[in-house]
Amino acid sequence: MSSDSINSEALFKCRRCGACCKGYGGTYVTDRDIRLISRYIGSTSQIFVDQYCKLSGNKPMLTQRKDSYCIFWNDLCTIHPVKPLMCRKWPFLESILADANNWLIMADSCPGIKTDISTDTLKKFVKQMILHNWNVEP
Ligand code: SF4
Ligand code: SF4
Repeated sequence: MSSDSINSEALFKCRRCGACCKGYGGTYVTDRDIRLISRYIGSTSQIFVDQYCKLSGNKPMLTQRKDSYCIFWNDLCTIHPVKPLMCRKWPFLESILADANNWLIMADSCPGIKTDISTDTLKKFVKQMILHNWNVEP
């Protein structure tokens, strides 16, 4: 990465508050997520999907408990090493970075998202993300 590249920490630093693990926005799991998480919890993909996911259309997403927290939340993420791609990429998701307004809206619910950055910085970061195929580099 070039020396004038923007480090992701300039835009976001997780405060470990757990707010993003609560609510009904939906944490989708990819086929790879399913394989890794089911192995991590000592289960099979089918049992994992049956017991820990619900379908949204035909896409599986993690279920929430009655208190609306993710089923894997227990003061911290209990599957942190294999948490879903969505959770690992947050908040650097294409849908959020597509529009600077989305970034600011999400900052209302995620205290780790920094808002004291210019739109130009955000745009430059998006270009950088596209160049790196949306992989976040620390
Ligand atoms: S809401 Fe934001 S700051 Fe809080 S745990 Fe989630 S990512 Fe981190
Ligand atoms: S998998 Fe972990 S990081 Fe993702 S929503 Fe659930 S508790 Fe939070």
